[in-house]
Amino acid sequence: MRILVTGMVSSLFMCAVCNANAATLTIESWRSDDVDIWREKLIPAFEAKNPDIKIDFAPTRPAEYTTTLNSKLDAGSAGDIITCRPFDASLELFNKKQLVDLTSLSGMENFSPVAKAAWSTDDGKSTFCVPMASVIHGFIYNKDAFDRLGIAVPKTEEEFISALVRIKADDTYIPMAMGTKDQWEAATMGYQNIGPNYWKGEDGREALISGKQKLTDADWVKPLEELAKWTAFLGNGFEYQTYSDSQNLFTLGRAAIYPAGSWEISLFNSQAQFKMGAFPPPVPKAGDTCYISDHPDIGVGLNAKSTHQEEAKKFLTWVASPEFADIYANSLPGFFSLNSNPVKMSDPLAQEFVSWREMCKPTIRSTYQILSRGTPSLETETWAAAANVINGKQTPEEAAAKLQAALGGWFKPVIVQQPSTARSSACLTSFGEASVPSAFAFGPNVMKSYADNASIPGIIRRIVLTTGLAPRFAAYPAKIGTACASRDADLQPVIYYDEDWLKDYSKGDYWIQLGVLAHEIGHLVNGHGTGDGLNQYQREIEADVFLGRVVALISGTIQEAELGVSLQPEEGTATHPPRFVRRASVDQGYRGTNQQ
Ligand SMILES: [Zn+2]
Repeated sequence: MRILVTGMVSSLFMCAVCNANAATLTIESWRSDDVDIWREKLIPAFEAKNPDIKIDFAPTRPAEYTTTLNSKLDAGSAGDIITCRPFDASLELFNKKQLVDLTSLSGMENFSPVAKAAWSTDDGKSTFCVPMASVIHGFIYNKDAFDRLGIAVPKTEEEFISALVRIKADDTYIPMAMGTKDQWEAATMGYQNIGPNYWKGEDGREALISGKQKLTDADWVKPLEELAKWTAFLGNGFEYQTYSDSQNLFTLGRAAIYPAGSWEISLFNSQAQFKMGAFPPPVPKAGDTCYISDHPDIGVGLNAKSTHQEEAKKFLTWVASPEFADIYANSLPGFFSLNSNPVKMSDPLAQEFVSWREMCKPTIRSTYQILSRGTPSLETETWAAAANVINGKQTPEEAAAKLQAALGGWFKPVIVQQPSTARSSACLTSFGEASVPSAFAFGPNVMKSYADNASIPGIIRRIVLTTGLAPRFAAYPAKIGTACASRDADLQPVIYYDEDWLKDYSKGDYWIQLGVLAHEIGHLVNGHGTGDGLNQYQREIEADVFLGRVVALISGTIQEAELGVSLQPEEGTATHPPRFVRRASVDQGYRGTNQQ
């Protein structure tokens, strides 16, 4: 506390003597735990590159933050930089015009829509805080205990229950450390931890918001049924066990498994005297897609009344950079960067958690966006439901019915339904001659996924960012034997692509994959389709010109641009021009010359 006061006094003093060119930016935050990290690591790194801007990290006590910040903002005395709570608290500040719209801030392109969701308007069009970090749910386990009992890390629901049975039978450890007294623990570490594997992450969450699903549907009842199975493994008196009791039981080595939030990592590292490991929530059946709660927790925004808007934006652009992500995430293992540039974590337990992003689909807690805006709040109702089911006071069905009744009392679905099967006129264009099935199922919209640069979503993202396009189209994987551009049932632009086909066709070559995808995006941005006044050849030429331009903007070579059409037939077809014409179109786009 003394350090904090001294810091604030000295910064006021510095400002009184600072020259006209230097600006001091004050950061409002509830993270008083992070004072040392800011003052010793983050601020020096920023100031070294920006000598004209001084940063003062001035946190408030966590419990007082929201009240203090709101009154300071109302009085016009708040700091320049505002640390943002996720979802409605910050949205309210933005709606009151107290936070600046940062949608076009340089660096914002480093974050996926899922990462930005916590600080964006409901329609996703405006973003008002730079995402800093998320927390990931999963299970931390006592490695010594697993080794001693010969238990392998469980991957499926069945293996998970078998492991718990085995630990219980041995009777050395409480199988799992979780209590129901604080209620939120059962909801957050239990329900929100395992639930995404059943409601399929973002698909289920969006279906709930769009009114397409109800909390009484099987996908939402199933996690409650699984939670009910936990009762037998929580140890005596779990009904009276608080959150800190659970933490202690685990770190003292009395329990073998701890349903966790990654924020526990630092504390557990400092307290546990045994080896720890972690595993993601087990999937219902072997081979199922896994989903993880990768929940945005902290962001930073800009006070609309700050007198240093330009300096503040410079700072926020730095917060959006990979450099900041690396220092921050490695200083606070368990608070993971939301930056799409992956950060290598030096803490092994933190690295284990973050590695799940590579194999599982991310989602946010189902109750946090939109659904807890009315009364009763779905979040609070879910605390009671999860605890009641584990305590045996309600059956999973009863709890689900009560949740749906509580939500249904005030909530009106807000988003139009998305189709899950394409229409018969599935593709308006395709990359080459291909017979596209008349109707096909497609996967989730990858525009909302995390994307490493080499993956197909990563390539699409790179094309969008390079060309400065607003990502106002969806892109879905689908078994169609090609890639194509189309319009969905609501006439919104979409790309469908067959992942296996693209891998086979390109033999894994990056530029061929990029070429195919850029070509299809070229059809979309040129508005191709019936009624555009063009014939199919003209459309193909325009799409190839766009392909060439994309590669030039990415700073690829002209040969790399031409690779995009290098495997297309030498002779033309009914719909596609011969290869030499396509290559010439690519070159034209690459060079930025106008043929007409
Ligand atoms: Zn085409």
